[in-house]
Amino acid sequence: MNNNKNWLHLDFKGIVPSEPKIREWLDFFHKCGYERVIFEYDCRVQWDCWPDASDPRLTKDEIRRIAAHAAALGMEVIPLVQIHGHLDWILKHERYAYLREGGFVNELCPQHPDAKPMIKAWIDEVLELHPDIHYIHLGADETWHLCSCEKCREIAARDTERGKIGVYLDHVGDICRYVIGKGLRPMIWADMFCSENRTDLAGELPPETILVNWQYAGDGPTETTARLKASGLEVYGASAIQCAWYEHWWCAMNNPGDRLVNVLGWNRSGLNVIHTTWGRPGNLWNLYPSWFGSVGVFIAAAAPERWQDHPWRPFFEEVSKALPRSWPHELEKLIDGAKALPAADRIEEEGRKWLELGLRYQLMVKNYLGVELGRKCMDVTQAYIGRDPASYHKYYIEPQEKLERELEEWCGEMTAFFRRNELSDSEEFVAEKRAIFS
Ligand SMILES: [Zn+2]
Repeated sequence: MNNNKNWLHLDFKGIVPSEPKIREWLDFFHKCGYERVIFEYDCRVQWDCWPDASDPRLTKDEIRRIAAHAAALGMEVIPLVQIHGHLDWILKHERYAYLREGGFVNELCPQHPDAKPMIKAWIDEVLELHPDIHYIHLGADETWHLCSCEKCREIAARDTERGKIGVYLDHVGDICRYVIGKGLRPMIWADMFCSENRTDLAGELPPETILVNWQYAGDGPTETTARLKASGLEVYGASAIQCAWYEHWWCAMNNPGDRLVNVLGWNRSGLNVIHTTWGRPGNLWNLYPSWFGSVGVFIAAAAPERWQDHPWRPFFEEVSKALPRSWPHELEKLIDGAKALPAADRIEEEGRKWLELGLRYQLMVKNYLGVELGRKCMDVTQAYIGRDPASYHKYYIEPQEKLERELEEWCGEMTAFFRRNELSDSEEFVAEKRAIFS
């Protein structure tokens, strides 16, 4: 099979563009050099096999048109179907609570008699949208509550060789064989073998299975890659173009420097690499920025050599150095810098605007901390040494009022950005970002 390094993953559980806008994004991704795109649909399509669980943003006809557009560009769409963990969007509903592993809302009990048939029915429903594909991603990461229920625990206790990971392997292996029987090559995230320290057992999966070793911190592969390769299965790497980071609740953009180090490090690994773009930290977590917040990193991940000459590169270096400090005077300078960036197409132009909005948000958060924390400190100080009402007003009350006006303006501009680019969930995103200041 003709592999290549330019795999892109897009997670739909976060902010999703409309169907026409996704087609525009595919044109952009194709121009970047991506050839295979993994769509993690999650809850964003109305799945017949999970009644009353979805929170749809796209219809099946729209998905078919998107896949046809990708095919016309010579790109393959690969669906990702989670088969074990990260199923909060289904299991949070009382209707499906009986499928939970040990009562945990994010994980399926693989021993429940309904579990495998329901997952297979979902795979069949997804494959109806993608009849011509060669790969399917089955997720299977972060099943942290493995063997929490009595039934699974008993099976693990009897399996003296494999223990807990035996329960995982039997479930994941069965679904892998199911899709292989349909002519597909399955891939799964490999972290459970690493976290359970049982990479020696990964080779029990069918030989067609691809293990994807994701590492989103640092500059790419770690020693786990060699341990996974010893299983005899093919190993891919996975970077993150967008993922969780320490400040993600109160920022409107990833620090691009961290992301560039990660994607470029993986690209040097010599492995096939899937560049992931996450929509939320999990089903029941806050929204990450839209794809517009990652335009520069999309370009760099697909074609590092093109990024070397890209006019945004020097600016990204400045941003990456300044963001961890977030001094207001540096952020103000960067906002002016973002306004002056050139743009080669509409996606870059809107990406430039998102950068500007993201930096303005960062500045507001920093100013808010300065005013609020300063005021709290001074309230104590003044109880000891007295109070100057005029300077108190100037340094704590006036900036607070100014900040409120700036926040209103920012929320209005961000809402207009969502509308103009036909992005979903503007109300939630803006409300989350506003909540920091209340
Ligand atoms: Zn169980």
